[in-house]
Amino acid sequence: MPSAPPRPPFKVCIVVPCYNEQGVISHTVRTLLDQLTKLEAESLASASSFICCVDDGSRDGTWTEIEQLAGATGRVKGIKLSANFGHPNALVAGLFSNRSQADILITIDADLQDDENVIRAMLEHHRDGKRVVYGVRLERQVDSLLKRTLAALYYRMMKVMNDRTIRGHADYRSADAGVIADLERFGEANLYLRGIFPLIGYPSAEVHFARKERHAGVSKYPISKLLSLAWQGITSFTTTPLRMVFYIGLAMFLLAAGYGSWVLYAALSGSPIEGWASVTLLLITFSSFNLISLGIIGEYVGKIYKEVKQRPRYIIEATV
Ligand code: UDP
Ligand code: MG
Repeated sequence: MPSAPPRPPFKVCIVVPCYNEQGVISHTVRTLLDQLTKLEAESLASASSFICCVDDGSRDGTWTEIEQLAGATGRVKGIKLSANFGHPNALVAGLFSNRSQADILITIDADLQDDENVIRAMLEHHRDGKRVVYGVRLERQVDSLLKRTLAALYYRMMKVMNDRTIRGHADYRSADAGVIADLERFGEANLYLRGIFPLIGYPSAEVHFARKERHAGVSKYPISKLLSLAWQGITSFTTTPLRMVFYIGLAMFLLAAGYGSWVLYAALSGSPIEGWASVTLLLITFSSFNLISLGIIGEYVGKIYKEVKQRPRYIIEATV
């Protein structure tokens, strides 16, 4: 069923995924509540706007903290997942559980590295008829040089394979409830949200901000997890690597054909080449290429395996 964009003042729901965020969560919630109060004064947000913290199976006191916040203000909800399902699953748990109770749903990290002051700009875009607003980081001076270089490389690569990814956009975005209803129809287990939102379509806008330092606690995304996220992004969204395997195979076949004719010619003309080195070289080149290809194909088969099992993406243990 087609959905119409909502009108202000919006009932806003801010979804905050939390994994071991005991040290920051209460500061974050207070900052976001202040923000909501300001937006209410400007008639952008309604008085019934709220915050929903999703505890993604934290092993510290995050949930106790959330329960206390919920008890204290009445504008804070909490969802406790039964285990650590991962950032994207925590986000959809928050989005899907609240979409019928809100007009606009915003996702923001618990550490407030993304500037909460641009929520106003997001809501203004919604007022002007936009359905999805992407938060885009202007600069990444706060992150390490390695992380920045890898990020730049990744966006470049994605651009080559699939030009819809928005450079500098992570998971800070707002969308209206109708868009979230459409998102719910994407039943894939390998959720790559920053790629899916541009696929859903609708009029969208970007708001820009500078990324801040983590308020407290440590990053849950070390380089290894980032690399796996990038690999996940590529293999969930494009089959270009599979096609590349085919092209490289083709190129190798042509090379082999040339080399083979030369060897055959030499043998027939009575001067066979002595060739332990060349045989070994060919053998290892082709067998290693075979293994890499198998690995890439295996990655996609693994994805299919995960998809066909249709496991739930998250399990809610408790709510407050
Ligand atoms: N997060 C989560 N589940 C996880 C890992 C992270 O819900 O398994 C949350 C985390 O609490 C934070 C957000 O995802 O709110 C982003 O994580 P983090 O700030 O550690 O990543 P970074 O900003 O360093 O990329
Ligand atoms: Mg962070």
